[in-house]
Amino acid sequence: MLMMKQFYTGPLYVNTYLVYDNEKKNAFIVDPGGVSPALTSFIEMNKLKVDFIILTHGHADHIGGAEEYRDKFKAPIYAHKDEKEMLESPMYNSSRALFGKSISFMADKWLADKEIIPFAGTELKIIHTPGHSPGGICILVEKWLFSGDTLFAGSVGRTDFPLCSHYALFESIREKLFILDEDVEVYPGHEGSSTIGNEKKYNPFF
Ligand SMILES: [Zn+2]
Ligand SMILES: [Zn+2]
Repeated sequence: MLMMKQFYTGPLYVNTYLVYDNEKKNAFIVDPGGVSPALTSFIEMNKLKVDFIILTHGHADHIGGAEEYRDKFKAPIYAHKDEKEMLESPMYNSSRALFGKSISFMADKWLADKEIIPFAGTELKIIHTPGHSPGGICILVEKWLFSGDTLFAGSVGRTDFPLCSHYALFESIREKLFILDEDVEVYPGHEGSSTIGNEKKYNPFF
């Protein structure tokens, strides 16, 4: 059975999600903002095999633990192909400002819009949602949507960072997220969860 557990990682306590199959033991990590002893020990205690680490986008608060977890669990990093510059540039990804050290790395697999990633008998669907960042993605796994900093409960991602586009953000949400089933659960990069139905009804930005 597919399970999900949320952790807080890194200096901004980003929402990091661990999705795993409790029988098959496959797992993947969404947005490790830092190395978290709670996350690491949960994986080890449950003898999970981390198939990959997937990044909703390349801002420092979401990627600070990606390289260490890649090494530790021998798991490739997946990110959208339009996020190369962000991952490579400490200026764009704000790692120098946030961590006091530069983060710069490349993903092991570059994703495209609508890409399907098989996982433990089910699949991830990649939805490219540029706006908050050029290669921002939302990840749909059955009824769970990991929305990164694109869509929050009652809010939307900021567009005042380098490479952001206010127009693209609203287009992404309207045309690619609000067409999903209303009962899809939304798990953002910060703060609480919601559903597509609730956001269509109550999000004050729309
Ligand atoms: Zn961000
Ligand atoms: Zn963030």
